Amino acid sequence: MSAATHVLRLPPLPTIKDLIRLYKLRALRQLSQNFLLDERITDKIVRAAGDINDHVVCEVGPGPGSITRSIIRKAPKKVIVVEKDPRFLPTLELLQEACGENLELQIELGDIREYNFEKGFEDVAKSDWHDYCPPLNLIGNLPFNVSTNLIIRWLKSVSERKSAWAFGRTPMTLTFQKEVAERIVAPVGHKQRCRLSVMCQFWCQVRHKFTIPGRAFLPKPDVDVGVVTLIPLKDPLVKLPFEMVEKVLRHSFNMRQKFCNRGLQCLFPIELRDELAPKLFHLADVNHHLRPFMLSTEEFARICYAYNVLCGEHPELHDYDHRLPKKVVAADY
Ligand code: SAM
Repeated sequence: MSAATHVLRLPPLPTIKDLIRLYKLRALRQLSQNFLLDERITDKIVRAAGDINDHVVCEVGPGPGSITRSIIRKAPKKVIVVEKDPRFLPTLELLQEACGENLELQIELGDIREYNFEKGFEDVAKSDWHDYCPPLNLIGNLPFNVSTNLIIRWLKSVSERKSAWAFGRTPMTLTFQKEVAERIVAPVGHKQRCRLSVMCQFWCQVRHKFTIPGRAFLPKPDVDVGVVTLIPLKDPLVKLPFEMVEKVLRHSFNMRQKFCNRGLQCLFPIELRDELAPKLFHLADVNHHLRPFMLSTEEFARICYAYNVLCGEHPELHDYDHRLPKKVVAADY
């Protein structure tokens, strides 16, 4: 194996297609497995992550290892792969052997949602949040249901600067169903703009890098796939507890086609609604006769802050959820 600057050449290996055949790695529908076989596409995904030379890269869901190979070729310092399906262990171990002394490939079998990043990255020096991004990357082509759920969990960790973000502004390069990728980056007025768009844009700079046609996967999924990068913002647009922000946005988009006050007024119990809903919009300086997808990310941030002020004045609002039946208290008898 020879290592030129920024490139690590692997010894000849069986193709991913051969490995799939050799180890009878039939794609499991219950894990939504769709494999990428084209090196040009896996290289392009890794290029979307930027310069990873000398970085510690965590790949989620490596499967038989096609993206892993592209990552390794970029000569990072270390690669950690987290894979749920143990059937891929032999193909990943083969890759580990091929890396030899040149690069540490750490294989973790398990669910990415339970992976302890603080431990995995313990050798990496922590960067200041306002500094450059740390030499860390998260890259993954995960099943769609996992990646959407994961991004919400990871945004919470970004907001709390915990887990992989205890080390600084660790960037993410992830695949999503194309429609979800479009939602993540949807700007004001876009028909796809939704709660997910605003959540992602509150905490990250988001880019839809390119689309991979469904036919590039084996087996072919019903949809095309979008590659998205999310880089945590030095100054998030909102600095309030994640749960509060999530609650405000859930109410905002509850009735997409109605003016935003229709959904947001449900943040308040009936008896306080007439007083507090107009106050919310007044404090936020937002026109309540706009549909939620017409509001800018900054306007949503002001609504969150206004709700926080109202929660300070009426602490009972914190626990209020209009979907739950009203608690019967002694005074009601
Ligand atoms: N990266 C490979 C590729 O691009 O060809 C495989 C992609 S396949 C869409 C998704 C991979 O994620 C599968 O290997 C699957 O077993 C794995 N996976 C699914 N859920 C996971 C989870 N919760 N944690 C870790 N890996 C998971």
